[in-house]
Amino acid sequence: MKVENANVILVNSDTVVVGAGPTGSFSALQAAKLGAEVCICEEHTESGTPPHCTGHISLAGLKQLELKLPKKIFENEIKSAIFYSPSNYEFPVRFSTPVTCVVNRTLFDQYLRDKAVEVGVKILYNRRVTSLLVKRNAVIGVEVKTSKTTEKLRSKLVINAEGVSSTLLKRANLPSLNSQMTVNGIEAEVDRINDSEIDSVEVFLTRRFAPGLYAWIVPRKDGTAKIGLGTERGHPLKCLRKFISHNPIARQRLKGSHITQVVYHPISLGGPISQTVHKGMLIVGDAASHVKPTTGGGIIMGLTAAKIAGKVAGLAIQEKNPDAQHLLLYERLWKKKMGFDMTMMKHLRKFLNSFSDRKIDQLISMSSQLKLDESLKGAKDIDFQGSSLIRLIKHPRVIAMGLYMALTHVF
Ligand SMILES: Cc1cc2nc3c(=O)[nH]c(=O)nc-3n(C[C@H](O)[C@H](O)[C@H](O)COP(=O)(O)OP(=O)(O)OC[C@H]3O[C@@H](n4cnc5c(N)ncnc54)[C@H](O)[C@@H]3O)c2cc1C
Repeated sequence: MKVENANVILVNSDTVVVGAGPTGSFSALQAAKLGAEVCICEEHTESGTPPHCTGHISLAGLKQLELKLPKKIFENEIKSAIFYSPSNYEFPVRFSTPVTCVVNRTLFDQYLRDKAVEVGVKILYNRRVTSLLVKRNAVIGVEVKTSKTTEKLRSKLVINAEGVSSTLLKRANLPSLNSQMTVNGIEAEVDRINDSEIDSVEVFLTRRFAPGLYAWIVPRKDGTAKIGLGTERGHPLKCLRKFISHNPIARQRLKGSHITQVVYHPISLGGPISQTVHKGMLIVGDAASHVKPTTGGGIIMGLTAAKIAGKVAGLAIQEKNPDAQHLLLYERLWKKKMGFDMTMMKHLRKFLNSFSDRKIDQLISMSSQLKLDESLKGAKDIDFQGSSLIRLIKHPRVIAMGLYMALTHVF
């Protein structure tokens, strides 16, 4: 470390990761496992705080990522989802064993951070990355502000896991998220929930309260719940309050309960950004919009990309070859793994967004009448939804449904 003057400190590292969210820690872990010297800059004083997400993820996704989480991280295991239309037609999909789980996001983020630290990753808290250091069009490090100093961290590579704000990308005039397809999310915790099935999430498809996404109620085993919604217009807290007081099911579930915590955070539904590799930099997670456009779930997709990014970064450092050509392998690999699914989900999101509440009523009631849940049970994978859809298309019920929706959409 070299002190240049009172305010500028130069530090060298193989890889600097921006953000100690799940994708930052996971990519750091993978790169460090391959021998790279990695440091993460995180603007907050801890990982996973404030938690801004429900933490509802698939068990298959965790398995695919080879993540065996300690029991204390799980808040619930989920066997079914009940979808409600605007007029409260119901469409339940029930499985015989748990398919998804709810994790405590603070503990989840800290678990991934600890795993990274175990293999030598250094975490610098209270360090806000304010800009990228660029030389001859290549990213060569970051500038970081603490309460007292400005530091320059030089590195062979930067992994940008700064999340949905993508401030650094915007500041460097690099392609960033599609703001047209970004909704305002709200995540709230309530101290009790009435009459809900404890292993069931409830999803409310409604343009009235949650245009652009949906509203949800996710119970915890201890009788509390996480509720929230995404909306493309209006203040999300106003939308949530309206949803609780006007939707009869939500009103019943939340009668007598109190909101104990509220967090706002955008959700990017526009699909991955056009360029996730620049000279000297890889972009992962929410910063790259590795988020399912259908549901807004970004943990499994983000970690899938982070795993690839960390490995490509680690190998590049090992081979002393972090040039753009080598780094492009990251983009090729994540696209191979989930590019098709992301494209399909983006089309589905646009399709759903074009539906009126009346059309969503038809969709849900037809799904129920056609017993589409029987076909959906065969889909198994709820993350890679494009591939699941292709597998489902051979089911006669799904064909009937598709035809019905296509025809009623056209006419
Ligand atoms: C209301 C809501 C509910 C959600 N529910 C779910 C769900 O149930 N399931 C699911 O899969 N996904 C869900 N998501 C999405 C999920 O939260 C994200 O996809 C996930 O957190 C992405 O992880 P990340 O590491 O890319 O970004 P983040 O988790 O946002 O982490 C980014 C980190 O970078 C830090 N940072 C940012 N800028 C800087 C900077 N300049 N310098 C230093 N540090 C910086 C931040 O402090 C943060 O720690 C939800 C999102 C919202 C808004």
